[in-house]
Amino acid sequence: MYRMSETPLITASQIENRLDSLAQEIKAYGPDIILSALTGSFMFSADLSRRLATPELQIKFIRASSYGNSTESCGKVKIEGIENLDIREKKILVIDDILDTGCTMQGIRCALESLGANEIRICVLLDKAERRIADIHADYVGFDIENKFVVGYGLDYADNFRTFPDIWTLSEENA
Ligand code: 5GP
Ligand code: MG
Repeated sequence: MYRMSETPLITASQIENRLDSLAQEIKAYGPDIILSALTGSFMFSADLSRRLATPELQIKFIRASSYGNSTESCGKVKIEGIENLDIREKKILVIDDILDTGCTMQGIRCALESLGANEIRICVLLDKAERRIADIHADYVGFDIENKFVVGYGLDYADNFRTFPDIWTLSEENA
């Protein structure tokens, strides 16, 4: 069983504030297309994209899952939704919930690079740098966090907790 932290690791109002400054950083880049990696980033992508709103800014959704031996080295990454994407000559912003080992994002980047984008930048809500295996970094990071398992604000544990407005840590219950 798991135990939820008594207070949020990151509160909804801290997220709100960070979203504002993050949006300013991203506006300087001026992406043409946001590519949101479901499901974990649904809330973050929605809140961020409304702060970037321009008529031409498009948002598309992909679903990436990594499998194989992901503890030792990066396994394979399966990406759904890129079959019909036309990103040639476009400036892309990939949004995901969390950069952990980085294997998923490395797989996404690799797949997108072959599609002829002008530029690909990466934005994640959370960065657990300590856990990194893949040679990848995010251009825009909401919050750097320690190596703890987090839920809420889109992030799940067995598909639960996603709708929570704050971010909480989960730990193993002893006994
Ligand atoms: P990576 O390929 O970078 O190891 O894995 C990234 C994915 O693992 C994230 O998109 C997320 O789905 C999941 N993940 C990694 N760390 C956490 C965490 O602390 N909490 C939750 N809920 N998911 C996590
Ligand atoms: Mg994910």
